[in-house]
Amino acid sequence: MSFELPTLPYEMNALEPHISARTLEFHYGKHHRAYVDNLNKAVQGKPEANMSLEELIQSAKGPLFNNAAQIWNHTFYWHSLRPKGGGRPRGKIAELVKRDCGSVEECKNLLATTAKTHFGSGWAWLVLDAAGKLQVLGTHDADNPMRTGHTPLLTIDVWEHAYYLDYQNQRPRYVETVLEKLIHWDFANENLEKSR
Ligand code: FE
Repeated sequence: MSFELPTLPYEMNALEPHISARTLEFHYGKHHRAYVDNLNKAVQGKPEANMSLEELIQSAKGPLFNNAAQIWNHTFYWHSLRPKGGGRPRGKIAELVKRDCGSVEECKNLLATTAKTHFGSGWAWLVLDAAGKLQVLGTHDADNPMRTGHTPLLTIDVWEHAYYLDYQNQRPRYVETVLEKLIHWDFANENLEKSR
C-alpha cells in the first residue's frame, strides 16, 4: 500500500484572486506532492508502510512523522478553505464560537493573532480540546494538535510557501484575506459532527 496525494477539492484557480493558481500549482502540486513522495520512500520495507497517516502522526518521529503530518495538515488546509468562503459561521460552530470566544470577531482575532505572530513555519488551528471547548493554538513545522489530544476543526498554513508568491513577506495580509474571503466554517461543522 502506498500513500497518495488526495484530490484538491476545487480547481487550481478557484481561490483567485486571493490565492493564485500559481501558488496552488506549487503548494499543492509540488510541496504537498513531495511530502507524499518522501513518505512513500521513507516507509519502503517498513511496518509503517501499513499504518494510516493518523497512526503515524501519533507514533512516528523524524522524517516519517514530518512527512505524514504534512500530508494530513495540507489536506486539512485545502478543506479549511473554499471559493467564496469567509462570512459568518452557522450551526454548531457558531454556537461554540459564541460560547467559548464571546463573538465571531473575537474568534477571528484570536486566529489572526496566532497566525500572524507564529514564529517561523507552522500552522494556526481552531480546535476542540479534550473537554469539548474551542481553542486556538499554533503548532511548529509539521506538528499537529491531535498529538496533544485536540480535535482539529480548521487550519491556516503559515509556512512562507503558502503565501510568498501572492503576498511576499506580508503574512498579516494573507491571514486576514483567508479569514475574510476563504475560510470554510462549514468544514468545522463537518469535523464537529465526525468527532461526536
Ligand atoms: Fe504548506
